[in-house]
Amino acid sequence: MRKPIIAGNWKMFKTRDEALDFIYQVNNRMPSLEDVDTVICAPFPVLRCLVKRQGENLRIGAQNMHFEECGAFTGEVAPAMLTSLGVTYVIIGHSERRAMFNETDESVNKKLHAAYKHGLVPILCVGEHLEERESGQTEAVIKEQILKDLEGLTAEQVKELVIAYEPIWAIGTGKTATPEMANETCGYIRSLVKELYGEEVSEAMRVQYGGSVKTGNIAELMQQPDIDGALIGGASLVASDFVYFAQIALDYIK
Ligand code: PGA
Repeated sequence: MRKPIIAGNWKMFKTRDEALDFIYQVNNRMPSLEDVDTVICAPFPVLRCLVKRQGENLRIGAQNMHFEECGAFTGEVAPAMLTSLGVTYVIIGHSERRAMFNETDESVNKKLHAAYKHGLVPILCVGEHLEERESGQTEAVIKEQILKDLEGLTAEQVKELVIAYEPIWAIGTGKTATPEMANETCGYIRSLVKELYGEEVSEAMRVQYGGSVKTGNIAELMQQPDIDGALIGGASLVASDFVYFAQIALDYIK
């Protein structure tokens, strides 16, 4: 059985007041942690204020971090800084960071190792561009990312990993992959992990879908056998929508 995981990716949205307004609306309305994992991945400045008010069941994540322990890296944030705030998840390799901030599979791999070293649960993002999908390269692109990103990770670590399949053409565009299409690629990711780490690991590891997830399509996505949750951008900014996503996930414990 895999526990569903609903994660919000706030990107560069919400001031402290807005974050507070959100957390007071959702923190007592999350399903039990025993049934569903719910996570808000917020900008660094509001992480502590969210952790303090996360309630029993919600967890807080960062959207990025550096892989080094500390050092002369102006503007960067180290893993231990996150854990010292009570942050428990971190998004690694989001396509916006890959496209705009020079994130490479090599740095993603180092960040995954650093996250495990510090006890953070990584949400690793992978996904293809529209031209790659249209020219039938989706699986090749995903395979290359997974092979490079997971290099050197142990089976025990990959069991705990959350992979978010986010087709780049579906992010923030209102275009969602059809549930079948999303499931097919999430299933492909699971089969790759099975080849690399065996069935016990691939069956335990959770795969999310991300890209224009809304209240109107979450249920049909969650119904798919290989989709264990969602990484939600825009719609996760609305407290009532986030509560709805978390409630829907309860119906799809796989
Ligand atoms: P979106 O973003 O839900 O706004 O498409 C998803 C993401 O980038 O994680």
